[in-house]
Amino acid sequence: MALFERKSKYIKINPNRPALPTTLPEVPDELFARCPACKRTIYNKDLGDHNVCPNCGYNFRISAKIRLALIADEDSFEELFTGIQSSDPLDFPNYREKIAATQAKTGLDEAVLTGLATISGTKVALGIMDSTFIMASMGTVVGEKITRLFELATEQKLPLILFTASGGARMQEGIMSLMQMAKISAAVKQHSKAGLLYLTILTDPTTGGVTASFAMEGDIILAEPQALIGFAGRRVIEQTVRQTLPDNFQKAEFLRAHGFVDEIVKRDRMKDKISLILKLHGGQNHD
Ligand SMILES: [Zn+2]
Repeated sequence: MALFERKSKYIKINPNRPALPTTLPEVPDELFARCPACKRTIYNKDLGDHNVCPNCGYNFRISAKIRLALIADEDSFEELFTGIQSSDPLDFPNYREKIAATQAKTGLDEAVLTGLATISGTKVALGIMDSTFIMASMGTVVGEKITRLFELATEQKLPLILFTASGGARMQEGIMSLMQMAKISAAVKQHSKAGLLYLTILTDPTTGGVTASFAMEGDIILAEPQALIGFAGRRVIEQTVRQTLPDNFQKAEFLRAHGFVDEIVKRDRMKDKISLILKLHGGQNHD
């Protein structure tokens, strides 16, 4: 066993060696990202402009403003319906403070960016939900902005493009948040009755009341690769049906295979795909 004994006589420590640093070396937060899909650590620069995992193709969550730059023609976006405020109907503790802090952090007034833009020259009403804003939960302001966007699109005979992302209803607004599902759906129906195109693009994650209403009401429903799309959470369903669900359950590809999604489109092809759909549907030439 002597073999394993520590032979300090062989280890020479220089008494004059410099002291070890008291602080650990720091890695900047933004340098690496961990892919939620394949769990690999990726050098951020390798994600490229579209924020796509080079290993498995997962489309990382991106802010509404980055998405806007990838989709709309440069300088074509006119933001509308800003300045609408939540009434905080439940007087929920710290809710107003949380909204104010999130507004300051994200530079957005709420969890959806709405306005008019052109995409490859076609004028559209455009909505982009942002999961960094209280998980893009749907409260009264989100509901109101999307409803007004549909009403404007109907009035101006425009196609409506909506990128969805959401953790579900905003619990801080209770039943008022659930009512938005019906309100938006009514506006979707009016837009549809006018013969106008409504295109939804489901991004990671699109869940809860948003999935149960306007996200799945598109005439054409696209999704980004490996996006989580569902109503109730996986554990809730497993405990209810007492079955283990397949690994890819609630993933975009699973929904595509079962007919709930028309096509999975990679982010770098998304603008071209939307442009093509707009052209096939006559763009703005509805008059
Ligand atoms: Zn990956």
